[in-house]
Amino acid sequence: MNINYNNGQWIVPDNPDIGLIIGDGIGIDVTPAAVKVIDAAVKKAYGRAINWVEIVVGEKAEKQFGNLLPQHSLEQIKQLRVVLKGPLTTPVAEGHRSLNVTLRQTFDLYQCVRPVRYFPGVPAPMKEPQLVDVVIFRENTEDVYAGIEWEKGTPAAQEIIAFLKLKGFTVRDDSGVGIKPISEFGSKRLVRAAAEFAVKNKRKNITLVHKGNIMKYTEGAFQQWGYDVLRKEFGDKIVFEEDLAGNELPAGKILVKHRIADSMFQQLLLRPDEYDVIATTNLNGDYLSDAAAAQVGGLGIAPGANIGDGIAIFEATHGSAPKHAGLDKANPGSVILSGVMMLELIGWTKAAELIIKGMERTIQNKTVTYDFERLLPGAKLVKCSQFAEEVIKNME
Ligand code: NAD
Repeated sequence: MNINYNNGQWIVPDNPDIGLIIGDGIGIDVTPAAVKVIDAAVKKAYGRAINWVEIVVGEKAEKQFGNLLPQHSLEQIKQLRVVLKGPLTTPVAEGHRSLNVTLRQTFDLYQCVRPVRYFPGVPAPMKEPQLVDVVIFRENTEDVYAGIEWEKGTPAAQEIIAFLKLKGFTVRDDSGVGIKPISEFGSKRLVRAAAEFAVKNKRKNITLVHKGNIMKYTEGAFQQWGYDVLRKEFGDKIVFEEDLAGNELPAGKILVKHRIADSMFQQLLLRPDEYDVIATTNLNGDYLSDAAAAQVGGLGIAPGANIGDGIAIFEATHGSAPKHAGLDKANPGSVILSGVMMLELIGWTKAAELIIKGMERTIQNKTVTYDFERLLPGAKLVKCSQFAEEVIKNME
């Protein structure tokens, strides 16, 4: 049965149909391994089963249908609403856009959600990686990712440059030109989603990250629109740092602050425990989420989700690592934990908790795939499929 979405609520039957994009490269290893873990947790927690519906996208679709992203696959995503996805290769030939970016734009998946926390035992570069526990909400449709760019020397680029000169700006004639649109609508809905998450999950604070000191009408406006929506719609649940004036935060309230992007990178290194939910623009969020994941050594196991109103795609944040494809050696952690996010979204939290427990124990036992094993003295090397089996065993 299909999952439905009504008035901001996901309506989930006991045996839901969920889309599955296996993905290219190591997708054939990590995605089936993750499915095994998710199925085992769902069965153990609820005695239920997910009906996985394969959606063919990427190289497999190119082979079968001569198209990387066939129309009927897009229809399936629209109908199924919730999808778990392995990594997809971006073809290098000119004229191809990233399939991931296309999916985000086609379905208006405006929230890119990346939780970053430490799993004890993971080799991490920080002294106290356990202090990092943030959920980053990155705006996913605007900013320099809107794809509005003109190549140097083209008539369009020259026209834009001429217009800019008319307005008194200095732009060299041999420039490529890109446009960075940031809207009130796009900013407010992203900050609203971050705040709803913070309230629902009883998180301590929300930080808006921007570069408004330099880009006032885009990045600075993001912060102001964000503050507006928080003041208007969450006023009884939050306190702005500026209004606190050194006093204690009243019990049960969420602290709201904002930080300039460059300072935020320092802050996350120096005082990670002061940050909790982060809402930011597209480019800042791209850099910040990878940097945060690296801090906890978790780039290979970092999960992610692209969420819109009524459609959600949960995906590995790493790529398709073609040289390891089909060798049953890649780390399935990123897809497994994306599955955890998926289970949380549909409200199956007991199954999500079982998987977290299984992952924590497996990594703590130093039973790990090659990427961690080479950094962990005394670790036991396992294959991708064996790692999944260990996680299942450790759910007991
Ligand atoms: P990559 O993430 O595929 O590989 C980077 C490095 O990380 C490689 O050394 C690889 O061996 C290692 N690695 C990645 N995932 C791993 C895992 N699960 N376990 C162990 N090691 C892992 O990045 P890339 O080489 O830049 O990109 C390859 C392809 O993937 C490109 O076509 C790129 O466009 C695409 N890509 C897709 C996504 C996505 O689908 N979300 C994200 C990034 C890149």
